[in-house]
Amino acid sequence: MNIHIPQFLTRKGIFSLLVLLCTLCSAKGYSENFTQENVKKANEIITKIVNAYGGQERLSQLDGILLEYDVININAQQSKATVAPWDRSKGKQVNALSFSKKIAYNESLDTSGGHNIHLATMIKNGKTKQVDHRRQTVAVGVSGNFASVAGPVVRIVSTLLAKQLLIHSTSTRYLGKQKIHGQKTDIISFDMDMGPALTLYINREGYILKSERIIGPFLVEYFFADHRQHQGLYYPHKSWSVINEAPSQEFYISSIDFDYDPARRTKTPSHYRIIDPPPPPQRKVTELAKNVYWVTDGGANNLFIKSGQEVIAVGGSLDSDKRFHALQNRIGKLSLRHAIITHHHSDHVSGVAGLVAEGATIYTVKEHAKIIKNASAHKKPTMVFVNKKMRLQNISTPIDIYDIGPTPHSEHYLLVHLPEHGIIFEADHFLIPGSGPMPPVTDNVRALVSAIKELKINVKTIASAHAAVLASFDDLLISHRTKEKRK
Ligand SMILES: [Zn+2]
Repeated sequence: MNIHIPQFLTRKGIFSLLVLLCTLCSAKGYSENFTQENVKKANEIITKIVNAYGGQERLSQLDGILLEYDVININAQQSKATVAPWDRSKGKQVNALSFSKKIAYNESLDTSGGHNIHLATMIKNGKTKQVDHRRQTVAVGVSGNFASVAGPVVRIVSTLLAKQLLIHSTSTRYLGKQKIHGQKTDIISFDMDMGPALTLYINREGYILKSERIIGPFLVEYFFADHRQHQGLYYPHKSWSVINEAPSQEFYISSIDFDYDPARRTKTPSHYRIIDPPPPPQRKVTELAKNVYWVTDGGANNLFIKSGQEVIAVGGSLDSDKRFHALQNRIGKLSLRHAIITHHHSDHVSGVAGLVAEGATIYTVKEHAKIIKNASAHKKPTMVFVNKKMRLQNISTPIDIYDIGPTPHSEHYLLVHLPEHGIIFEADHFLIPGSGPMPPVTDNVRALVSAIKELKINVKTIASAHAAVLASFDDLLISHRTKEKRK
């Protein structure tokens, strides 16, 4: 999946945190005068920003908005290869908003990494719907609120950030100065009602050149450039996101309307099938077969095979160790012996450090050794390299590991098969939906089906690294023969 989970905060992130902390600490220690000075300075900058983007009156009036983007997905740490140059793929995004009617619409089309995803999330009258245009389904009753759908729309347009500043001027603080792309900027931070606090970098003309926020181990930066005028407002024609210093996405505005009724976007075609919402994320232990356990966690899962008092883990996504602990809570204390990592993508190695800390030997391919070592937070993690095929035996049930790469997703990719039970663990090749019909075929599905056929292995059950539900081999074959319908 297109998720970037880094191992550590970067230098830049730590610097930004220090700027924030120092400013907050010193603000506390100083007299009230300092705080007043700080608020005054922050408000001067807000005035400059508001004037640059079209003035207070125009920004206050701004309500119905449509933004269409050409997107370039860069997929740093999510490419087929382990090093740059990263794979680049074209995508599309459509956002529409009304603050007064509390309508938000967020649509994206993404074909990176061998996937083919065309989803839309919308909220209207307090109800969130998720539309899958490839499956032609509408899931109603999905959890979410206006802020959760509108937040991602607002954060990538500096014009809308300027509008937010009008509302949140009392929470705005001045943090200092820094150069961004050779331009002097003033730094302010403010609390937005849609997500965590944002730090903004503003140039001499009052344009926001960068926004920044920290979410757990992520430093997420958005850069804004090429400000242009439209309907009495200024907007950034180009913007791009960087996550922990790795390029993530580039956005180019293809169409913009600051006088739009977003209700037009929230109608779904009448022939689309209404399906149940996907199950809510929760940590759950399921016994799939004797000694075989499936631990799901709302988008990040592991398979565990018990052999005596030892366990072999399959999958390396974030919190793999916590899922191992959940297994121990269920069936008693055990020791973790081995962990098999499917591939090198950041979201599939972010649990490696936890697995190594539990004492696991890591099974991977030689080509991923460097990434595994970096992810392990250990000088010399014990690694075993799989060369095409390996069988783990003298355990409660044999485990076969196959390198089925190259696939459209990864140059090397380890598929794990339990031949006695017909169970496979797969990551990112078959996106099993939480509810409703199977998705139309993708390049990744084709690669997985042809690998299973070539290996002539028996498959009954498919456990996936991201999906909270299991699929059967028939489900995979249905997806394989389903062509996308024309809209
Ligand atoms: Zn992946």
